[in-house]
Amino acid sequence: MSLQAYKKKRDLTVTPEPGARVKKSEGALVFVIQRHKASRLHYDLRLEMDGVLKSWAVPKGPSLNPKDKRLAMMVEDHPYDYKDFEGVIPEGNYGGGIVEIWDKGTYTNLEKDDKVLSEKSVKAGLKAGSLKFRLKGKKLKGEFALVKLKGKEENSWLLIKHNDEYAVDTEYNSEEDTLKTSPINKWLKEHAGDKVKKKPAPKLPSRQA
Ligand code: MN
Repeated sequence: MSLQAYKKKRDLTVTPEPGARVKKSEGALVFVIQRHKASRLHYDLRLEMDGVLKSWAVPKGPSLNPKDKRLAMMVEDHPYDYKDFEGVIPEGNYGGGIVEIWDKGTYTNLEKDDKVLSEKSVKAGLKAGSLKFRLKGKKLKGEFALVKLKGKEENSWLLIKHNDEYAVDTEYNSEEDTLKTSPINKWLKEHAGDKVKKKPAPKLPSRQA
């Protein structure tokens, strides 16, 4: 697995993000969902495979309601150590903003709780454009699927919750499943007025002939 793209996008002497090191879990395969306030607030889903984290940016965040199909844009592989990363990426750098861990845990494939089989199944699923897995997180539990969109951009997938005992049939908003005191929410609160204050007075279009 290559972390070339990860390295290329970042100046690792400036950003506090982890170095591009390939490393594997001793135990079960891990997953993490990070909430990331960059130019836009979004979520990043990462699944361990072959010593890296396969990664998708999910603009609206995950849902526990099987009716929701959440767009998930596949992005560059991230290093295994990224599973623990929280912090501030300085402005002007790739992904500049704040990252916090929204949920983390382990995952397996659907058939059997077996690490080798689970990794194989992810690899096959990535190729086939259809990935199924079971998450064991604090917020996200049970079966999920990632399905690649055909005929769309190369990296567009949908993240869908399967109907199981962890699914909900009410509206689900991951933002409401986030602590009000989370680092990003604190930051958003402190900077709530910034945009208004910084925004210059709108200029009327020139009507001169
Ligand atoms: Mn991100």
